[in-house]
Amino acid sequence: MDNLEKGEVKRLKRSTGAVILAHSYQPREIQEMADLVGDSLELSRFARESVAPLVILCGVRFMAETVKILSPGSVVRLVAPGADCSLAACMSGEDAGAWKREHPGAALVTYINSPVEAKAESWACCTSANAVGVVRAAPPGDVLFGPDRNLAEYAAAESGRRVIPWPGGCHAHSGADIRSLRRARAEWPDAAVLVHPETPPVFRREADAVLGTGGMIDYVAGSDRRRFIIGTEEGMVYRLSSLFPDRSFTAAGDISCRDMRNATPDMVLEALRGDDPGILIPEELAGAALKALERMTEL
Ligand code: SF4
Repeated sequence: MDNLEKGEVKRLKRSTGAVILAHSYQPREIQEMADLVGDSLELSRFARESVAPLVILCGVRFMAETVKILSPGSVVRLVAPGADCSLAACMSGEDAGAWKREHPGAALVTYINSPVEAKAESWACCTSANAVGVVRAAPPGDVLFGPDRNLAEYAAAESGRRVIPWPGGCHAHSGADIRSLRRARAEWPDAAVLVHPETPPVFRREADAVLGTGGMIDYVAGSDRRRFIIGTEEGMVYRLSSLFPDRSFTAAGDISCRDMRNATPDMVLEALRGDDPGILIPEELAGAALKALERMTEL
């Protein structure tokens, strides 16, 4: 993006009152132009407080839906309209409803990486940062957890609750190859290994810490280690490097999300210019999903 286009972004932001939000997995050039870069929980918290008339969301569809539910007065435009999340696609609202009927009395906890229709069926939502706490706080009895099987197993192990997982997974994390992590560890034996709970169980067993992206930032801030091997989407390596320029980071292999990689600065410019009404969610559906999201933020 040249200086002329950068100036145009600034001018459009001023004239529309827009804010640009980007997930930590977004490409470097998108992170550089965002007003806020964060994980799903941080973006949700921002949305709750936001009074911005226009939100440009650089991420995937479920994030834009979540921001719209939490900030219904804002026009929320997804920069890459086709950017869906392969994990969210694993569990529809109909799937969630049928699953609940198969397990009467169980509480459904839905990872925020899910479509609005599945959230609307849920007792509570969670992010990777608070999945264990939400599962722990669920009403007595079984907990249904979807759509990510790896995160469900992690939350079960950490909370001590009986959790029934939905058999879903993200193409990027669940396909992560442990041999790449071992190679990185052999090259950097002094490094701390931080992995995301969506990675396969063998990753978690070989990690120094299992954390969501916000937790990784806190871990590095409080650590006296100099080098870190990062087991999550590769955009997070750039995010950490920009926050901690005095430390070194490398990826634990090729964990790349195709859904996060297709946003470009030109698309941000287009989204700022357009008159697209953005994400629209029927009121009743948004209200039901809001209850599950509010329970998550209360917990
Ligand atoms: S990394 Fe996985 S869970 Fe995250 S947006 Fe991409 S497909 Fe979805």
